[in-house]
Amino acid sequence: MEFLRPASMAEALAAKAEYPGALPITGGTDVMVEMNFDRQRPTALIDLTGIPELAQWDTDDGRVRIGAAVTYSRIIGELGDRLPGLAMAARTIGSPQIRNRGTVGGNLGAASPAGDSHPALLAADATIELQSEQGSRMVAAEKFYLGVKRNAARSDELISAIHLTPPSGPQQFSKIGTRNAMVISVAAFGLALHPDRKEVRTGVGSVAPTPRRAYEAETFLAAALDEAGLWESRDALPDGLGDEFGRRVSAAASPIDDVRGTAAYRLHSLAVMARRALTWAWTDYRRPSDAGKD
Ligand SMILES: Cc1cc2nc3c(=O)[nH]c(=O)nc-3n(C[C@H](O)[C@H](O)[C@H](O)COP(=O)(O)OP(=O)(O)OC[C@H]3O[C@@H](n4cnc5c(N)ncnc54)[C@H](O)[C@@H]3O)c2cc1C
Repeated sequence: MEFLRPASMAEALAAKAEYPGALPITGGTDVMVEMNFDRQRPTALIDLTGIPELAQWDTDDGRVRIGAAVTYSRIIGELGDRLPGLAMAARTIGSPQIRNRGTVGGNLGAASPAGDSHPALLAADATIELQSEQGSRMVAAEKFYLGVKRNAARSDELISAIHLTPPSGPQQFSKIGTRNAMVISVAAFGLALHPDRKEVRTGVGSVAPTPRRAYEAETFLAAALDEAGLWESRDALPDGLGDEFGRRVSAAASPIDDVRGTAAYRLHSLAVMARRALTWAWTDYRRPSDAGKD
């Protein structure tokens, strides 16, 4: 097996073009498991950890650009205040060791339906930057997940960055597993309230072949908040709104029974998480310290 260690993005893209079957490796927390269990036997590995620009984040015109090799630990420590939903998801991933190695770029590369960054990225309206020797292109998170462990990157492309706008409203992330830590999600839910455009966005994980948004639930909640003037008044949510939102989020899922949980449990837990996430997000939104933000 060839082991390639490019020192720049240009070298990495040249290697990807020359060896389309080569497997990129960043933190290796998925790749090494796959290789150790003999599920993958690539002809070459392209180690992306020697490329400085992939390990950096910066801001441009209000947007945050996170290099694909920025670790979860750094997202929590350096970006937790600006990107709370993604940081919440990052805090639930693996253990400190996994968070010190693992990256959002790797989570996107693996494109597992159970990847925890995905619901947060969908809710936050993230865009994925892909690069090849032909140039770069941007793909909205909701268009990125094509199937179980399949994503929109071509064989000559690398994930170079994730772009997010710091939110104008509260964000939440919730996941349920078979134990409290170091656990793959049985179901996961991300929520972002966007009061600047009176929009609600969601992401659900581990409950369908791909991470996806619960579009109908989003439209329902945004309209209910708008019709009652709640975006402006920040009054308490009407009784039953959270339950109805939860039911509609759950209706967007198409889960399966597997070793981690039954489809029925996934649907139930998703409805509960959605209701709770809305309650927490709305409590944040009503805090006096937030008054005037929108
Ligand atoms: C013990 C343990 C616990 C875990 N817990 C969780 C958890 O709670 N939640 C969760 O979501 N995941 C979990 N994972 C899975 C894993 O840690 C995450 O998916 C992580 O985000 C992978 O990042 P990485 O940098 O290690 O990726 P890698 O293993 O390096 O790569 C993963 C995939 O992405 C591809 N890839 C990597 N970088 C790029 C790039 N720049 N461009 C294109 N393709 C790329 C690789 O080829 C590979 O297919 C766990 C793994 C372990 C071993």
